[in-house]
Amino acid sequence: MPELPEVETVSRQLNKAISGKTFKSVVVHVPKMVLPLSAQDFAQNISKKKVLGVSRRAKIVVISLSGKHFFLVHLKMTGQLIFVPKTGKAVVGGHPQRDGGRNLPNNYTQAEFKFTDGSTLYFNDLRKFGWLKLVTEAEKNIILDPHGAEPLDKKFTLNIFTELLTKYPNRTIKQTLFDQHLIAGMGNIYIDEASFLAKVLPTRKIFSLSKSEIEKLYKSMLTVLKLSIKMKGTSARNYVTSTGEKGGFVKYLNVYGRANLPCTTCGTKISKIKHAGRGTHFCEKCQK
Ligand SMILES: [Zn+2]
Repeated sequence: MPELPEVETVSRQLNKAISGKTFKSVVVHVPKMVLPLSAQDFAQNISKKKVLGVSRRAKIVVISLSGKHFFLVHLKMTGQLIFVPKTGKAVVGGHPQRDGGRNLPNNYTQAEFKFTDGSTLYFNDLRKFGWLKLVTEAEKNIILDPHGAEPLDKKFTLNIFTELLTKYPNRTIKQTLFDQHLIAGMGNIYIDEASFLAKVLPTRKIFSLSKSEIEKLYKSMLTVLKLSIKMKGTSARNYVTSTGEKGGFVKYLNVYGRANLPCTTCGTKISKIKHAGRGTHFCEKCQK
């Protein structure tokens, strides 16, 4: 699943591509994706609305519309937003597609949004877990508010991080950072990488962490998220940027996806175990 840096990258690129455009017509091929609205109501209500801007909250793409409405998109496992201008190159974000966004619509196209200027936004989703919601501001808040703190927000200080992290002292680092109600947007890649930089095992119980280890974890988390956004995300199996490139953070991975390869710091083979239901990567020598 795309994590914070990947959704941030897609949102920033879409913001440039579709801000100021007005929806003309919409075709929804998979009605369950736009629930609770019917496909017909969804299409009718979004038509004539203008895109004011695109941002991100947690792992959700937030498209602000005229008339105080919002169009929310969750890419889930394999969702992809592809913007095709009237002329020029397609802009693709999310799950990679073999043909790089040509030959659209195709078998995986679940919804098509035509703009008044002749350009089109396609939502493709191989596994159909993604969703699209057209909501009012109050409805948007009900969906977004339960998500935890935004780690890149200026208000997200070490004190706030410590307070959230230590809320459940018997949980492990991985269990805690995965909890989207505490801190939003973290996933497997960035939890393993932040733990490596902080020299702590992701399987460590929170109560066992010293003050300085918590501070290192906080700084490491911000470091990996910021670097990854700068590099336009990580391409594991399931992500390309909205220009269709693979994310550049993959070059900076120290542990994730590197089981049995030598540690970049000490040369010890990177371990991989299953923890909290996920493949968990670490160096047993560098991390305590
Ligand atoms: Zn090592």
